[in-house]
Amino acid sequence: MAHEHDAINLAQGFPGFEIDATLKRLANQAMQDGYNQYAPMPGIFSLRKKLTEKINTLYGSDYHPETDITITAGATQAIYTVIATFIHPDDEVIVFKPAYDCYEPAIELHGGKVIPIQMEAPDYKVDWSEVKKAMTSKTKMVIINSPHNPTGTILSEQDMLQLETLLTGTDIILLSDEVYEHIIFDNEPHQSVARFPELRARSFITASFGKTFHVTGWKMGYAVAPKELMEEFRKVHQFNVFSLNHPTQKAFATYLETPSHYLELGEFYQKKRDLFLGALQGSRFKMQPSAGTYFQMLDYSQISDMGDIAFAKALTTKHKIASIPTSVFNLNQKDYKMLRFCFAKDDDVLLKAAEILNIL
Ligand code: PMP
Repeated sequence: MAHEHDAINLAQGFPGFEIDATLKRLANQAMQDGYNQYAPMPGIFSLRKKLTEKINTLYGSDYHPETDITITAGATQAIYTVIATFIHPDDEVIVFKPAYDCYEPAIELHGGKVIPIQMEAPDYKVDWSEVKKAMTSKTKMVIINSPHNPTGTILSEQDMLQLETLLTGTDIILLSDEVYEHIIFDNEPHQSVARFPELRARSFITASFGKTFHVTGWKMGYAVAPKELMEEFRKVHQFNVFSLNHPTQKAFATYLETPSHYLELGEFYQKKRDLFLGALQGSRFKMQPSAGTYFQMLDYSQISDMGDIAFAKALTTKHKIASIPTSVFNLNQKDYKMLRFCFAKDDDVLLKAAEILNIL
């Protein structure tokens, strides 16, 4: 609709600016240097080594580059493969709503049953007592996502410890979707599963170069897990993908030698969040600043009684600004009158968008 109506597109989550010329040059160079044939099945070793070093340094973990990490076609394939590997008919998977849209179809495709737990607006916090109630002997997996798409909330250390207590003594696998690990604000630490030894032992972490290096179109990511879990993952990975784009793996392995390329990302996006929210101060939207991701939720309940899908459509067609109605991610399409706006855009685009939103 954004294209059709020539609207500013703050709907789909992709960066609206150029990528670093160094990264482009490295990928071009790898092609020139002849890295154009199949890469090893789990990914090239130099990249796996750089990534496990990075994770172990940041989160105090002990992942091994040979056995504990596999390069994937974006986080989507990593998530799909984890689900395909472990979910069989009648297995139950606890999913927090609103939820990113690739979890549930994969669970259902493999005969699993989604056990949804709705997080309530405006805080979207997990009620861990509800999780306890939802756990049964059939619970095979729990999926978490922090920083969280679409709400921009994050899990705290306390949340992780509560989850750890709940899962202790079970065989439940934890899938932790951490694609926004470096897009976190206000000096809050990212509570990666990798920080919690008890959780780490039962977990897959999925991550995406697309989010961290502004290259969503390259569709590259990875999965990390202890050896025994990763061995099972690779049995599926071998036949649904086999191996991933070789020259870009070479490029990332070199690019990761400079930690500022990912460590400065939070600050970069925090400035954009603050610019966007600052420019909306005079508007009638209600907002809680996003704590992570490049999404900001805006509550329009003081502006209109319309349902969020109708309101988002009207915004696109009449006011030329596209957003995502978040009821589509909720249990039973519950409508909190909240829209998701992507602020991974140039500053002038964000200011133009705010100008439009201010007159509503
Ligand atoms: N998980 C979440 C929460 C996401 O927002 C996205 C991308 N929108 C993905 C996974 C998928 O990442 P990728 O593009 O690397 O497949």
